[in-house]
Amino acid sequence: MTVQAGVGARLLEGAPIASEIRTRVTADVAEFVATHGRPPGLAVVVCGRSAPSMVYLERILKACASVGIESRFVDVPDDEPAAQAAELTAALRRLNDDRSVSGIIVQLPLPPAIALRTVVDVIDPLKDIDGIHPLNAGLLRLGYEGFVPATAHAALEMLERSGVTIPGAEAVVVGRSPVVGMPVAFMLVKGGATVTVCHTKTRDLAVHTRRADIVVVAAGRPGLVTGAMLKPGAIVVDVGINVVDGHIVGDVDFESAREVAAAITPVPGGVGPLTNALLLAHLVRAAQRQAIERPELAGRKGAT
Ligand code: NAP
Repeated sequence: MTVQAGVGARLLEGAPIASEIRTRVTADVAEFVATHGRPPGLAVVVCGRSAPSMVYLERILKACASVGIESRFVDVPDDEPAAQAAELTAALRRLNDDRSVSGIIVQLPLPPAIALRTVVDVIDPLKDIDGIHPLNAGLLRLGYEGFVPATAHAALEMLERSGVTIPGAEAVVVGRSPVVGMPVAFMLVKGGATVTVCHTKTRDLAVHTRRADIVVVAAGRPGLVTGAMLKPGAIVVDVGINVVDGHIVGDVDFESAREVAAAITPVPGGVGPLTNALLLAHLVRAAQRQAIERPELAGRKGAT
């Protein structure tokens, strides 16, 4: 890629890539239906209801319908914490055993009184399409194939499609969460980048971001990274989703950053649509893997 700073960065938009992925997923779903006599199925587990994340989840359900995947919400109603955790565990066990369910995602964050381990300890790793089970996290850590969190996968897919050369690149990841920052960092290391992970204890964030060829920001802090903190010609992937004055914005100050970067993802319209499409791709892969590894779960031709 030609790196040209100062003239307005190239926009790395998620929609065209997401559309390509959905086309491939639609064909894979049709083939799965022809082989197994049923579509892959997604279950979205929701613990109590909060408006912003429901919008995100409803978008996923709509995307499923558009490619022929069956999907459903599984509500775990608000209750006192122990009872709600027990109901969540029971719901996950039912979904693990349900052969019409190929993949499970759980709305995060959980209500504060419910530990993430309630999910992590129970979800079937072969249905864990958003990569939160320790087996999948461990496979990623070891560099093996498993399910990686869709958002982290989307950030990497963006970089690969941007034409940036990952091997040898200096990369900075801002954020060290288990669902975004750390998986992105592990994938970049696997790809051959030299990676620095920054977080709230990092003494001077700009010192690190200014020397990076690749900056991935997943902090949940609007405008945290500005153009002045970037090296001219950097590739910037903004994973952040924040609502400011009723508008969705990222973690990067887009206007100043686009004057310095060579390429940048917009928010909205960058990583988000790609995350959604990759979740569908993960789901189909889960269904295909179950057909091979768990024929008793698979249906028609796979049944024992
Ligand atoms: P999280 O669990 O809250 O983690 C945020 C990370 O950012 C933490 O590691 C935190 O450091 C670090 N951080 C916060 N403020 C910082 C600062 N001022 N300087 C440096 N580091 C800072 O959030 P998350 O779940 O990873 O999500 C991150 C963002 O991505 C959020 O905006 C979220 O909405 C968005 N997101 C987007 C998608 C998508 O599809 N695009 C999907 C999931 C999440 P410490 O560890 O020191 O606290």
